[in-house]
Amino acid sequence: MLKACAICGKPSVARYAPFCSLRCADADLGRWFGEVYRVPDTTADPDAMKGSDDEDDNLTG
Ligand SMILES: [Zn+2]
Repeated sequence: MLKACAICGKPSVARYAPFCSLRCADADLGRWFGEVYRVPDTTADPDAMKGSDDEDDNLTG
């Protein structure tokens, strides 16, 4: 199953995956050059969210 288009959210097509059309694929490319590309946060995962950040505290010095 394909994921939703990263640009507009429509169902992506295999030809332009992970986008729904060349337009969106092109728009995404423009972002790379235009501005800082934001990594789309993976779908809110209940499991991923409950990651223990307590251990990370030790890293800071
Ligand atoms: Zn799209």
